[in-house]
Amino acid sequence: MSLYHSTRSRAEECSAKEAIRRGLAPDGGLFVSDELGSAKVDVDGLAELDYAAIARAVLGLLLPDYTADEIAACVNEAYTGTFASPEVTPVVPLTKAPGAAAGPHAHVLELYHGPTSAFKDVALQMLPRLMARAQASAGAGEKIMIVTATSGDTGKAALAGFADAPGCGITVFYPEGKVSRVQELQMTTQAGANVAVAAVRGNFDDAQSAVKGIFADRALAERLAAAGIVLSSANSINVGRLVPQVVYYFAAYAQLMRAGAIAAGDAVEFCVPTGNFGDVLAGYYAKMLGLPVSKLVVASDKNNVLFDFLTTGVYDRNRPFFTTTSPSMDILISSNLERMLYYVSDGDCELIAHLMADLAETGRFEVPAELLAKIQETFACGWADEDEVAGAIAASWHENAYLIDPHTACGYHVLEKLPAAAGSAARMLLSTASPYKFPRAVLEALGEDVPADDFACMRKLEEVTGTCAPAQLAALETAHERFSDVVDVPGMGAYVEDAALRL
Ligand SMILES: *Cc1c(COP(=O)(O)O)cnc(C)c1O
Repeated sequence: MSLYHSTRSRAEECSAKEAIRRGLAPDGGLFVSDELGSAKVDVDGLAELDYAAIARAVLGLLLPDYTADEIAACVNEAYTGTFASPEVTPVVPLTKAPGAAAGPHAHVLELYHGPTSAFKDVALQMLPRLMARAQASAGAGEKIMIVTATSGDTGKAALAGFADAPGCGITVFYPEGKVSRVQELQMTTQAGANVAVAAVRGNFDDAQSAVKGIFADRALAERLAAAGIVLSSANSINVGRLVPQVVYYFAAYAQLMRAGAIAAGDAVEFCVPTGNFGDVLAGYYAKMLGLPVSKLVVASDKNNVLFDFLTTGVYDRNRPFFTTTSPSMDILISSNLERMLYYVSDGDCELIAHLMADLAETGRFEVPAELLAKIQETFACGWADEDEVAGAIAASWHENAYLIDPHTACGYHVLEKLPAAAGSAARMLLSTASPYKFPRAVLEALGEDVPADDFACMRKLEEVTGTCAPAQLAALETAHERFSDVVDVPGMGAYVEDAALRL
């Protein structure tokens, strides 16, 4: 059976279930398995499989200690009746490919048809189911309290995934006044007996640092342990959040085959709007599992730390932080890059430990030239500033009659700039959020006057484009707000403890 261990050391090994329960390796590294890629997914047979069947095949390879029945049950619970498309993640052709007149055709992979209209639903509908089975196998009867600080999207997707999940609770903190009204209402109206939501007087970094402090608080951990409760995290360092994302790369390929856009074995280029490097890393896992991928294009916003790294080999977070219209990509430390470096360096734990120590101490690291060359064989990159993002939203609408959100627009701009990777039979842009989650920025990009109220923006966007807001977003205007808690940063630990003891 394949075992997981830290990217920084092979000293301790554990099962996939154990890795999912723990989240982060004890030495601060991320869990990886050296078996990845030793067995491949059958690409020739993909066209006959629906999303659930592809998910069972991919997850079975990546999580070998889950039984086939457990995986099938998780897939069924996560994706039956929860996504607004029968394909779960549908592929849509663009009528006019961005940029070049000739060349391989461009398509969009719409990842946002889940319950919260962001791509994080694909993983966060699955993680709680995987965690429940991991807990049951551990047999300790413990309860897990998920604690998350969010800049907007993760919090709601995690709440929707963990609401009323057996044996789990979830507490979400968001910075007061720093998320959009739509995002705030998405969280404060969340149903479920095991959820808690609070605004924090501070910014996202304050909330995030305080959550790290809560995880490191020994005294709190002991008090919770006495009540049979452990704390865990739902962000993309968890293996259980990463692996469900591998599935949609295969599902996209299957749809292209069924549409006759490619034949089995043809290479596809994927362009991925990137923040924490989870989504694009899942594409790399898909490639290692046998998916024909010509290039993975990392698209950034103005916070272009990954562009600089992939171009020069120097990762340097000592730079100004920009707040943009694509908040989920406003990130200077892309945690999952560590997993990519692990695999590209053929599992050189010592090198990874060294690079991450450099990053922690100086905010910077540099990879050897041979390693950079190897990375560049698979990964290309580009970025968009805010004017370019607005320009891409307008171009996509005017040239394709296709509406995109500001995150997807970063990818659209990059596709437009870069020539198609050699050998690509098709180009695929991953679309990570519904444009209706950001109606203000999208309207503005289309050159329209912007009403003061977010819901007025939503209605105007419907009028101007003839498209329809997802029902669950439009319904927020009249939804009942359950939570109005506001806490100071020093009060966050006590808030978590109260919520945990209510489980
Ligand atoms: C989280 C998020 C991203 C970035 O994904 P990573 O896996 O962190 O790289 C991009 N777009 C949207 C809308 C997101 O919510």
